[in-house]
Amino acid sequence: MTAQILDGKLTADQLRSEIATEVELWCVAGNPAPTLAAVLIGDDPASQVYVRNKEKACDKVGMHSRLIRRPAATTTSELLALLSQLNSDLTVNGILVQLPLPTQIDAQKVLDAVSPLKDVDAFSPENVGLLVQGRPRFLPCTPHGVMQVLARYGHTVAGKHVVVVGRSDIVGKPLANMLLQRDIGLGREYANATVTVCHSQSGNLAAITRGADILVAAVGRPHLITAEMVKLGAIVIDVGINRVDDKLVGDVDFDAVAKVASAITPVPGGIGPLTIAMLLRNTLMAAKLQANSFD
Ligand code: NAP
Repeated sequence: MTAQILDGKLTADQLRSEIATEVELWCVAGNPAPTLAAVLIGDDPASQVYVRNKEKACDKVGMHSRLIRRPAATTTSELLALLSQLNSDLTVNGILVQLPLPTQIDAQKVLDAVSPLKDVDAFSPENVGLLVQGRPRFLPCTPHGVMQVLARYGHTVAGKHVVVVGRSDIVGKPLANMLLQRDIGLGREYANATVTVCHSQSGNLAAITRGADILVAAVGRPHLITAEMVKLGAIVIDVGINRVDDKLVGDVDFDAVAKVASAITPVPGGIGPLTIAMLLRNTLMAAKLQANSFD
């Protein structure tokens, strides 16, 4: 079997062009361009690249971005004060705090302090709670990217057994939540899955993953998922991004698994580009929500 490649870059290009059209219509109607404020603490090189990519992406779809940099020694209370300013700044629609934060900062307190109406990463307890209850405000970016690539390639998830490996608050848990909802706005066939979530303490991981119609790896361990762990004809989504010998690789042994799977996302060029596209979509949605609530 030769797997279909689920091209995240192409899907992200389509999404970005749809978002650019929506932004144009929004601005033509007399609204200011949506603005994303990115807060970067310290000078971690990977974080600088991620933030720069987000700024460029905003620019390409006609949105504004504002980068706010603070030194690595910033304290929790200094960052909370900055967030309070951004929360009440009517010219800022979305706020993104680039992770990871330096260890002296209480990351949970900081993420909790972002206004839920500007929380375009969908990390705040209010937005997580709304998603769990099946009435999401913002969909979390990476899980939404996974759902979009499945939907745009016509791979329905309803009634399928989806195994998610990884239970982080950023990827695994919210993705599992989205998959099992009745509808997340993409149509009922792109929800209503039967979901199993695995983690580092799961016994006999391979036996569980071999039962998956759709297998999602969000772990951060290069090549954890081997061909023997995948059912013939399964769809495999690789969220992992790992640097090995200066090359980016996923959590899936791509070459071997592509011979067993019916469809697979590559790394790079898979879920990564979609994450940024979904962030843009949330920023536009935030601008619209705020325009309504501040009227
Ligand atoms: P994380 O917070 O470190 O979570 C990793 C999860 O994997 C944890 O739940 C952990 O279990 C589980 N795990 C670790 N070793 C395992 C093993 N041997 N078997 C089964 N489960 C195992 O990571 P994350 O933030 O979710 O990110 C996961 C990966 O996705 C990383 O490579 C990250 O770079 C990538 N990522 C990509 C994007 C993108 O845009 N493409 C976005 C976000 C993250 P425990 O809970 O038991 O520790």
